Amino acid sequence: MTSTLFASIGELVTCDPSLGDGTPLGVLRDAALVVEDGRVVWAGPADGAPAADERVDCRGCAVVPGFVDSHTHLVFAGERSAEFAARMAGEPYTGGGIATTVAATRGASTEALREGARRRVREMTASGTTTLEAKSGYGLTVADEARLLEISSEFTAETTFLGAHAVPREYVLDRGAYVDLVSGEMLAACAPNARWIDVFCDVGAFDPDETRHILRAGVAAGLTPRLHGNQLAHGSGALIAAEFGAASVDHCNHLLDSDIEALVAAGVVATLLPAADFCARTPYPEARRLLDAGITVALATDCNPGTSYVTSMPFVIALAVRELGMTAAEALWAATAGGAKALRRTDIGRLSPGASADLVLLDAPSFAHLAYRPGSNLAAQVFRRGVRVA
Ligand SMILES: [Zn+2]
Repeated sequence: MTSTLFASIGELVTCDPSLGDGTPLGVLRDAALVVEDGRVVWAGPADGAPAADERVDCRGCAVVPGFVDSHTHLVFAGERSAEFAARMAGEPYTGGGIATTVAATRGASTEALREGARRRVREMTASGTTTLEAKSGYGLTVADEARLLEISSEFTAETTFLGAHAVPREYVLDRGAYVDLVSGEMLAACAPNARWIDVFCDVGAFDPDETRHILRAGVAAGLTPRLHGNQLAHGSGALIAAEFGAASVDHCNHLLDSDIEALVAAGVVATLLPAADFCARTPYPEARRLLDAGITVALATDCNPGTSYVTSMPFVIALAVRELGMTAAEALWAATAGGAKALRRTDIGRLSPGASADLVLLDAPSFAHLAYRPGSNLAAQVFRRGVRVA
């Protein structure tokens, strides 16, 4: 077992409030970190660091936990730049474009799908993401959804069955039959490679009764709920997330006070996806209202070919600060510890003893540079379980 000392850290963000400056970010200055067997075993002031076998000189830079991207649609084929260009020219987004990606994905070979996912994971890792969630949802047949989850599970343990992403064209005249398929045969084929069950509960997607039916089936199959909700209009997504004790409700652009109260009471994380609003040119969620109400907020990319072909969590952090009115500290917390909470993980999103040694050395003296220098990749070195991956 080899131990590694990360020495001369100018600013160490631990996301452990018991360490450092007493804020939720738990910031230590002039710090060091010791990693052994993929785990953090010590974090504290540089002058108190124990000896270790190897040494990484951080040269006064900031070190932050690896980003936790808790909402991605990782595996798909094709691209929709023409749809993006049309939308930027004034055409509204109605969710109809998913069918384009479904057709491309069904027609792609498994190796092509895997290669596309691999390329996106490489991009994510290079910008500092060390944990990602990946959803199915562009197959919408039993075999294709199962294939997407098999590929997803090669990249992450945080896999989500989203057969209820859209009603495919062949079922538009018989939605009930599709809901039965998703909750029956498709779920049975996908559950072995899925941890989570998700439904796009919104206008033009799945209604409250359909959503409840599918979530109930998913829970019975041993999956844990998370939801797409309240993105395109006010709807029942947030309330259903609270009702089912979901880990997270994602998007949250249209919430009433009663929705917010229900989320707080049920302890559901609100995952905000500002890159989707940026790329779709739709109104941003009211992050300040959620934070002030005491909701746990997470940030994620929503990486998908339709509304957010974005792999960079630092870009999302910059948007959260500039457009959602979050502080740099709140945004970094939401992109690390918040994402961990959205995935119900306690071993990631923090850098204190016992945590997975997932960390990013920033080419900057302070984490604030993540928002201050949008568009620059500040991830100089990225480590997952103590191993350099970028
Ligand atoms: Zn999504």
